[in-house]
Amino acid sequence: MAFDWLNKFHKEMEQADDYAEKTLAAYKLGMRSKGSIAGVRVELVPGACEICSQVDETAVFHPDNAPRLPLENCQNDKQCRCVYRPVMTYEEE
Ligand SMILES: [Zn+2]
Repeated sequence: MAFDWLNKFHKEMEQADDYAEKTLAAYKLGMRSKGSIAGVRVELVPGACEICSQVDETAVFHPDNAPRLPLENCQNDKQCRCVYRPVMTYEEE
């Protein structure tokens, strides 16, 4: 599977303090080098708080414009663990 590196990357990154910065930077690189990443979306976790739940899961952001995770005003003390997921060009309609 071509995207093994992504899965590994996600596991390592999701706990990091600078998760948002590093993840978005990596996606940006992916957009430039291989052209298969179209953007980034936010995936909510089950039980995410009211604030986090307001993020549109279907919205595709450019890494520069994506909301920073964890969301500043998360009601669960930033514990919602909402994550970024890359959107591949072949997923776009
Ligand atoms: Zn939250």
